[in-house]
Amino acid sequence: MDYEMLKEKMIKQQILARGVNNKKVLDAMRNIPRHEFVREKDKEYAYDDCAMPIGEGQTISQPYIVAYMSEFLMPDNDLKVLEIGTGSGYQTAILALLFKEVYTIERIEILQDRAKKVLKNFNLDNIYFRTGDGTSGWQEKAPFDRIIITGALQEIPEILKEQINKESGVIVAPVGGRLIQKMQRIIYKDNKEMVEEGIGCVFVPIIGKYGFKE
Ligand code: SAM
Repeated sequence: MDYEMLKEKMIKQQILARGVNNKKVLDAMRNIPRHEFVREKDKEYAYDDCAMPIGEGQTISQPYIVAYMSEFLMPDNDLKVLEIGTGSGYQTAILALLFKEVYTIERIEILQDRAKKVLKNFNLDNIYFRTGDGTSGWQEKAPFDRIIITGALQEIPEILKEQINKESGVIVAPVGGRLIQKMQRIIYKDNKEMVEEGIGCVFVPIIGKYGFKE
């Protein structure tokens, strides 16, 4: 398989063509080989325009969605980000190239262990992992400049909002029902909150104390 060629095609036809053109995001997508984050038997589909199963009933998000969310998050190399839903670790790797520090929480231990193992191969030394319910955030490491939630929520929990930098923070999450959602971005400026709606999307639910019930 010519993964380099497939990756370039993915960036051109799925990401740039749909309007994501943040250079740092595109470079990060170029530098992370997506096929390393999917199951051996699925590698040939790694650069296709779709989400894919990663086991445990969970998915690695569609490449365009990863790019879109990364750009929507307004990345900056000086900032600290919290990711809820490590999954395969693919989005985590992209974030590690875009931010100073990445704190990532995954509910399913087997996925977190797998993601850790894959991410070890990339010599990224700015990722901190936690296994558990991310809907309560990571209080000890707060405040965060950015929070990204890579699964569906009915609403963004107050406890997460309490952990964002209120001067200039940003939260991005798919918000809506269990089956279909709209991407939501909350931008904080001088303690005020501005809510914006992005594209429609389909994510697996975030299950937890302040998320969906199992
Ligand atoms: N960003 C991931 C990637 O690139 O592979 C995809 C994430 S997948 C769509 C959503 C993930 O959120 C799943 O791995 C799921 O187990 C996890 N999840 C669900 N509820 C959670 C919770 N309360 N806390 C942390 N992770 C959770």
